[in-house]
Amino acid sequence: MSFIYDILDDWISTPSPQVKIELPEILDAYFAKVRKEGGKKHTTVKKGEGLGVLAQRLGTTQEKLKEMNVDKLKTWGAVQGFNAGETIAYQDENESGGKVYFDKVQSATIGDEVYLVVKTQNFQNRKLKINICQGKEKVLAEKDKLISVTQNGSSISLIESTVGKSDDIVDAENKEDYKDWAVSKITLKPQGDEQLKKWEDAIGKTSDNKTYLYLLVDAHSGNTDYDKDLFVYYGNKNDEAESEHSNFTNYWLDVEGKWFGLSKVKWHDPVDNPICTIYMQSGGGGSLGKHWGLFGKTRNGSTHSGLDLFAKTGENIYACVDGTIYNRRWHGGYGNTVTIKVKDKASFITFRKDYKLIHPNEGEIEKGTGYNENGDIFLFYAHLDSVEEFKFGDEVKAGQILGKTGRSGVKAGTCAPHLHFEIFSNYKTAVGTKYRINPAFYVKYKSFDEQSTAEKELQKKEKERGKIKQVYGSKKLEYKDMTDFKK
Ligand SMILES: [Zn+2]
Repeated sequence: MSFIYDILDDWISTPSPQVKIELPEILDAYFAKVRKEGGKKHTTVKKGEGLGVLAQRLGTTQEKLKEMNVDKLKTWGAVQGFNAGETIAYQDENESGGKVYFDKVQSATIGDEVYLVVKTQNFQNRKLKINICQGKEKVLAEKDKLISVTQNGSSISLIESTVGKSDDIVDAENKEDYKDWAVSKITLKPQGDEQLKKWEDAIGKTSDNKTYLYLLVDAHSGNTDYDKDLFVYYGNKNDEAESEHSNFTNYWLDVEGKWFGLSKVKWHDPVDNPICTIYMQSGGGGSLGKHWGLFGKTRNGSTHSGLDLFAKTGENIYACVDGTIYNRRWHGGYGNTVTIKVKDKASFITFRKDYKLIHPNEGEIEKGTGYNENGDIFLFYAHLDSVEEFKFGDEVKAGQILGKTGRSGVKAGTCAPHLHFEIFSNYKTAVGTKYRINPAFYVKYKSFDEQSTAEKELQKKEKERGKIKQVYGSKKLEYKDMTDFKK
């Protein structure tokens, strides 16, 4: 018996020659938006260097240093710090050379800057040729014809990109991750105002205010030294019999049956840099106040009916979408307010993001009872310093300035100036979260953890000024000025 086993063992351990052909492949192609993370650096703590001095030397805050080096933090009585000679990490937000990421997007708006990403294999330093094509039906061009977009200020329909080489990745800390990727930056708009108007009109005529595009990647014509039969292709939906294109050199985007949607209507955030407030009107908060500006029972059990976005007095507030002026009035505790009625509800719904509740345990919720996505939708801006001169029914465009932020309505004054922003389907104030949706599903705001040191410092500085009263803003909106408005 043992004799047989010996033979079997010998047979198994005999190496058999394996032929492996490394075929060049295109694995995926899609549209993406870039995300950058500041460079993480290290330093050695000097002798006698306290936390405050250290933070100052590195241009960061004590809080941030503690967060990033929890395991190395020492406590001596009431004092905290690091041992001399210890190597600690810190974040330099302004420095280039951080990490870069390309997040796949399924839609964008005319004028957006996006990246065309092509993932490859065994194709380093090779040149790819990429076209953006009209999908589904004629809108910007005849179906399957090329779309010209903008790159470096010029009109372009053939985008060339070299695998592993791109201005946006060569300096990145994680450039190794992209050695098999071709990445090119483009702007989704045509050249010239006349052409732009044509695009907007054409998309405006579609049933869902969107047109659908796909990518065509030509991996062969720039690499003729490869025998084209050696290429492996995926996702080619083109019917070989009918195709005018060379099936061996093309790759289609909608490998999962998904198209890239280009829309005309823009979403404009209500303030320029939406960051949630981290202090209470009274001044309490900081890292403990992470959830107080959010929607729901986020204030130790008491309800907040909107999203509070930090803003010093006098900053612009914007119409997020096209709409009509529905109200412009003084509202007691909300102070001066303006409300717009959303014009195009179907598009509005498309702006809803994949937002994950950040503080559900502290009471943050998705929506209150009675919010009706199919009903009229209103956007409500409160605590304003001033509101532009509007009449009931005036049309406003996405991105149009509606007024200025302030501290109105807060009788006792506030340490935390902000825009109070609500989205609701029934114009009723002071009903908690009823009829309301969490605005965080629409506004691209930065949570406490996403805010930079400088942004948190700005809020802290404002808090340290103490309670400031500007109860009526620069001018209290009077009833007598409000012809036609709901009173
Ligand atoms: Zn609020």
